[in-house]
Amino acid sequence: MSGLDGRWTRRWIEAVAAEVARRKLELTALDRAIGDADHGENLDRGFQAVLGRLEALDDDATPGAVLKLVATTLISTVGGAAGPLYGTAFLKGSMAAGDRAELDAAGLVEVLTAARDGIVARGKAEPGDKTMVDAWTPAVDAAAAAGDDVRAALEAAAAAAAEGAAATEPLVAHKGRASYLGERAIGHRDPGSESTSLMLRAAAETR
Ligand code: ADP
Ligand code: MG
Ligand code: MG
Repeated sequence: MSGLDGRWTRRWIEAVAAEVARRKLELTALDRAIGDADHGENLDRGFQAVLGRLEALDDDATPGAVLKLVATTLISTVGGAAGPLYGTAFLKGSMAAGDRAELDAAGLVEVLTAARDGIVARGKAEPGDKTMVDAWTPAVDAAAAAGDDVRAALEAAAAAAAEGAAATEPLVAHKGRASYLGERAIGHRDPGSESTSLMLRAAAETR
């Protein structure tokens, strides 16, 4: 396989579900510090529902079809801020993927860009507002700069998202629940930036 096909997309989503389940308490602990202590549970509920629905999907489903199933499932099963935001991200990503059978590096960048733009359109956060946008935006930029190798683009995106998540720690939040805390949010990592990093790391490690 040269590009990322539907089977790869499915393996990636299964890896995300496994990682969210494994790190659920950690994600919720981040949200306990500057939110309402539900981010891990929210995402775990959503991705477990995704796993159930993936079984019914055709073996030959395209990347776009897998991403669309994730979107509709997250929208209907995850509440709060992250459900609609990640739902929009996967929906816009699926629209960008269209009916292509495989995504090459350029296609991957189109999908990641559409996902990030969807989150920004929905949540109106800018980089530096201490949200998941702080992981998505450097990830998109790094993937776009990585060249023609789709594997290199995934690795660059994952590394940049991890750095972006860590870089939320010294920030005051301007969007979401953490914005109510003012300077008390300083010193805490944004939970959504960490779950974004988790998703992109899982992508880089999916073969
Ligand atoms: P809730 O805050 O409703 O309990 P979650 O805890 O599941 O929802 O998700 C919180 C995460 O959502 C935050 O850590 C942040 O990354 C993200 N978030 C919240 N509001 C916005 C926004 N307006 N734009 C982008 N991301 C946001
Ligand atoms: Mg929360
Ligand atoms: Mg909540």
